[in-house]
Amino acid sequence: MEALHWREFVRRDAPLLIYYPACGGGEECMTACPFSSEVWELRTMRVSLFGVSEKPRRRPVMANPEACRRCYVCVQACPTGALRVNDGNGRVFHNRCVEALILIYNALKLPFKRKYGVRFVFRREHIRRFLRNNFGVAAS
Ligand code: SF4
Repeated sequence: MEALHWREFVRRDAPLLIYYPACGGGEECMTACPFSSEVWELRTMRVSLFGVSEKPRRRPVMANPEACRRCYVCVQACPTGALRVNDGNGRVFHNRCVEALILIYNALKLPFKRKYGVRFVFRREHIRRFLRNNFGVAAS
């Protein structure tokens, strides 16, 4: 069965919205969330990785948004800015230019973040998950 397009996984009633084309799939949000097992699940969806060819890839989905405590630690941990607080208008993305600027801004911020900076993103577990979720590679 073909994977559904990423737009099908966006829940506009959830406390957080994810712009999946900017999500790298390293699962930093799931690692940081204190209630991860209650809130998050990985799902396979058709999505591009940073705008490069849409393929089935695994991405975090808020499977149980009602279990979210709205602490927004996951938003701080997201290295790309793909994860956003839902301000109520349900808009998932702006336009490609704005999305590119958000991505660049978040990448430039990484070396200066104390808790969820470069060392957090490049932890072995996140590299392994990135490879598995994007390329199906089981890195040791
Ligand atoms: S806002 Fe807090 S509880 Fe909700 S998903 Fe993010 S880290 Fe988890």
